[in-house]
Amino acid sequence: MSSEVPVRVRFAPSPTGFPHLGNIRTALFNWLFARHHGGVFILRIEDTDVARMVEGATESILHSLKWLGLDWDEGPIFQSQRLDIYRGVSERLLKEGMAYHCYCSPQRLEEMRKEQMKRKQPPGYDRHCRNLTQEQKNEFEARGIVPVVRFKSPLGGQTSFPDLLRGEIVFGNSTLDDFVLLKSDGYPTYHLANIADDHDMEISHVLRADEWLSSTPRHILLYQALGWQPPQFAHLPMILGPDKSKLSKRHGATSVTEYEQQGYLPEALLNFLALLGWSLDDKTEIMSRDTIIENFSLERISKTAAVFNRDKLEWMNGVYIRSLNTEEFSRRTLPFLESSLPSEVSRPLDAGYVGRIIPLIQERARTLAEVPELTDFFFVDRLDYDSSLLLNKMEQGTAVAALRASIDKVEGLSNWAAMSLESVFRPLAEELKLKTGVFFGLLRVAVTGRTAAPPLFQTIEVLGEERCVRRLKAAMDKLKR
Ligand code: GLU
Repeated sequence: MSSEVPVRVRFAPSPTGFPHLGNIRTALFNWLFARHHGGVFILRIEDTDVARMVEGATESILHSLKWLGLDWDEGPIFQSQRLDIYRGVSERLLKEGMAYHCYCSPQRLEEMRKEQMKRKQPPGYDRHCRNLTQEQKNEFEARGIVPVVRFKSPLGGQTSFPDLLRGEIVFGNSTLDDFVLLKSDGYPTYHLANIADDHDMEISHVLRADEWLSSTPRHILLYQALGWQPPQFAHLPMILGPDKSKLSKRHGATSVTEYEQQGYLPEALLNFLALLGWSLDDKTEIMSRDTIIENFSLERISKTAAVFNRDKLEWMNGVYIRSLNTEEFSRRTLPFLESSLPSEVSRPLDAGYVGRIIPLIQERARTLAEVPELTDFFFVDRLDYDSSLLLNKMEQGTAVAALRASIDKVEGLSNWAAMSLESVFRPLAEELKLKTGVFFGLLRVAVTGRTAAPPLFQTIEVLGEERCVRRLKAAMDKLKR
């Protein structure tokens, strides 16, 4: 990588939808590239397609970037506030004979498209207005028709550019039509605004999704027409779903906010996204943000598509969850508990109590959103479960007697720590002539309402004497009923 050009990269989303993983992967790679080279990361909102704008999309983009810690050095810059710049560039191209006014009506363009389809011709503007006489132009103007501005693409020859990932890319100019630069509403198209800004903002490298590859020859032609030096391009590999089709809604959650809501940690998602198309050494999976920045390079971006693997993301999130200290894990989990525990549980939750529960499930949770479900029995007043769960391979009378004996042993117990509880219940199993597995299973269901729960004696300790004794009694009543 030549060190002469200062690295200036941009993330340039269009607010036509909520940012999905692919968009944010693009943002991440640009950010990593900037941070690795000590360069500048610019956020530019390409909001010139008024008809396709989605309310709240810009906020969601900013939020997703902030949540992941992808801080920008300049911006957000809104293209809608820079229309004069694009109009100026369009004027210049018109004046220099590189662009022309087109008065074709939408109906005419539609008919042209149908005709091309029928004749199996490639789609594209037929250059109808490219050589209008002044008289013809005057006539359209007199009728009050507002023209669009089109670029005069060369009729023959080739346009090529080096892609930093794919090598030399060559397009035949005959495949590029006279595309629109400025729409009749005065807004620029993507092509015009994109190159005008990349030039104005002195962008050194454009790292973008490979779906934009076919736009690049148009951009190169514009740079040439304007006498500007184009940036260097790298078109990033696609992200595919597990079925090897392009990642989309069908493959589950795609927007970054959905992952946030599902309890993924930003540091885990960042690590996961970095590996969608880049790798350190083909084997290291868990890497800190700093390690990724330090090692990030275009040379290690893969040329083939990356495959999204949700199981891997879940696994990775679990690894990151286990690496948090208890305090941090509690802090991050609290909002999920507050919002998802049953409404009967009174809020705000007792942070001290939460802090004792949380470590019991940290080993098992793969997402923060799973925590309420794994721990709700700690919070609710009454457990709702089927009494048959209590009777796992036991006679009803045996179970009732075991519960009775348990209550007698623990009511008023002076030391309610897990170790002391265990030293009460283990001998009791023997006394009752029950296998510990069977007896502890009964206790587990009685105090948690479920067959799988965190370690039994620690659970009983945290639940406390009052709640446990009440639950043991309720279990007895259930069986007698
Ligand atoms: N606005 C385009 C997008 O939404 C930008 C593409 C580019 O980076 O040039 O992806």
